[in-house]
Amino acid sequence: MELGAAQAREQVAEAARRLYERRLVVATSGNVSVRIGDGGLLAVTPSGVPYARMVASDVALVRLVDGAQVDGAWTPTSELPLHRAIYTARPDVMAVVHTHSLYATMLGITGRPLKPVHYAYGLLGDPVRTAPYVRYGTSALANEAVAGLGANGAVLLQNHGAVTVGADLEGAFERAEILEWLAALQMGAEAFGPSLVLSDAQMAEARVALAGYGPERRSE
Ligand code: 13P
Ligand code: ZN
Repeated sequence: MELGAAQAREQVAEAARRLYERRLVVATSGNVSVRIGDGGLLAVTPSGVPYARMVASDVALVRLVDGAQVDGAWTPTSELPLHRAIYTARPDVMAVVHTHSLYATMLGITGRPLKPVHYAYGLLGDPVRTAPYVRYGTSALANEAVAGLGANGAVLLQNHGAVTVGADLEGAFERAEILEWLAALQMGAEAFGPSLVLSDAQMAEARVALAGYGPERRSE
């Protein structure tokens, strides 16, 4: 279903508050966006505005093609180049969530990859990569993130955080939660020593099952 601008701004503000409540972001870190209607406009979080009390009127509207702001009281996120680059490269993506969640960020600091320690890894990527460090807010970071993301649903940003994408904001948000949980699971397990990971064959089997996973209404 196509989103209108007002609805998109509400969704972005609500997701921003929820990211803060669930501790996936700290203070004003991270950013959220959704693609509106036919895709020419984006609703994006403002730069430097605390997430805890973000409301729809704080959310900026910008043009995808050139990043020009068409509405909103605040300057858009400093990661606008990152969000625009992802929407341009991935026509299937309708929402982008960037977090500084604790374990995903910690894993990116260790330089170790996210491993398939659980079948839920199949909801994120094949495989999930870590984009090399580049300063926040730059086009160079946007390019690295797009390359690292590929056709996946998530990418880690070395010494920075993580980005997840989805066919809607709920999907991108859910992936941010799963990514954080998987990173915590892996780091927790590895604290006990070498840990087990799923094989390529086990992950391939899981991916087939996950493709059909979701709520199904019972037939009457
Ligand atoms: P903004 O407040 O500009 O969105 O920046 C936060 C951030 O996470 C930069 O990487
Ligand atoms: Zn960031």
